[in-house]
Amino acid sequence: MPGYEVFGDEERKEVQDVLDSGVLFRYSFEKERMGRWKAYEFEKELCKKLNVGYTHLCSSGTTALDIALASLDIGIGDEVIVPPFTFIATIESVFNIGATPVFAEIDETMSLDPESVKSCITGKTKAILLVHMCGSMAKIDEIKKICDQKEIILIEDACQSIGATFKGKSVGTFGKIGCFSFDPLKTITCGEGGAIVTNDKKLYEIASAYSDHGHDHLGTIRSDDDHHILGTNYRICELNAAVGLAQLKKLYIMLEKNRMYKKMMEEILSECTGISFAEIPDKEGDSATFLTMLMESSEKARNVAKKMVEEKIDSFFYWYDAKWHYIRKWNHVKNLKSIRKLPLELIDKIEDFRNILLPKSDHIIGRTISIQIKLNWNSSEVIERSKKIRKIIDGNI
Ligand SMILES: *Cc1c(COP(=O)(O)O)cnc(C)c1O
Repeated sequence: MPGYEVFGDEERKEVQDVLDSGVLFRYSFEKERMGRWKAYEFEKELCKKLNVGYTHLCSSGTTALDIALASLDIGIGDEVIVPPFTFIATIESVFNIGATPVFAEIDETMSLDPESVKSCITGKTKAILLVHMCGSMAKIDEIKKICDQKEIILIEDACQSIGATFKGKSVGTFGKIGCFSFDPLKTITCGEGGAIVTNDKKLYEIASAYSDHGHDHLGTIRSDDDHHILGTNYRICELNAAVGLAQLKKLYIMLEKNRMYKKMMEEILSECTGISFAEIPDKEGDSATFLTMLMESSEKARNVAKKMVEEKIDSFFYWYDAKWHYIRKWNHVKNLKSIRKLPLELIDKIEDFRNILLPKSDHIIGRTISIQIKLNWNSSEVIERSKKIRKIIDGNI
């Protein structure tokens, strides 16, 4: 991770293909496009890689979430259970659709804690928006069971975990809809882009129509004669899709390297006293884009993070002090700062938002440092870097 580190001739060739035809758009222009359908090919390839029935590409991971929520008929008055540790986009999409986010605790998987999810369910809970964090996976079997028992919709935000699996099944394919991002920092990038995946044909058709002004799409053909629903424009550009297609073909090579480097790091760092690693429900299925470790106290973690900066060790995150991934710094969320008019159901809850308390998540995130595994390292750099971090944690630097 991230995919831009392996950008090369394969991506150039796919983009050149599109430029040569002059058709930069994913729909129509059948005669001019010389048989080139990069977005469509990307979708077919993604279905194969994830073993899922339908995929629809869109302009970003955020719009993928918007499409998922809209297609599943979630909106004003509905509660959606979300984690406090995610990229802010997850929460924005719930607000954007007019629904009410309800924050549950995370556990040491860094994703939603099934027990806390259960305690957050009310008569208004319509969906659980589960985020698989840091290249790994949530306790997806337990969360899915809760959803099935309570007849709650499961949506997966798998933007950070493409290629991860639980017991052989791809994350993103357990719920009604799974969402992926191909933004600049993700495992696969196409500049900007995203996708929804589903096994439900009807949902796929709604999602595909919604993201293109309600047009019907039959295979590669866009029908112009009928609009059944109001939609919007969340289309991907054919040029971006071309890059993503080349990247997707390299997915397994990237994951293999991630896993090798992560294993090397973990071996060295496991010798440190007083640290543990994030819980991974199925270690074999980890996409291994991050090595996440927990220190014995938040003071210790903050100190280690400070030392790592001083020692010029890059590519790590101390999430507790970071702005975009943990609720602690989301004052705009807690104060419902929106330029859109918010539904009364939400405004009524402003005091609840301001007073949110998530002691378990605080206790975990305060002690957590995640190291991003980079594809452009080599083995000796990984070892050197790991030894240096070990020294910092053991207090020898
Ligand atoms: C990156 C990310 C998104 C948003 O994706 P964009 O393509 O940047 O819009 C949503 N959720 C999570 C968990 C992410 O990491």
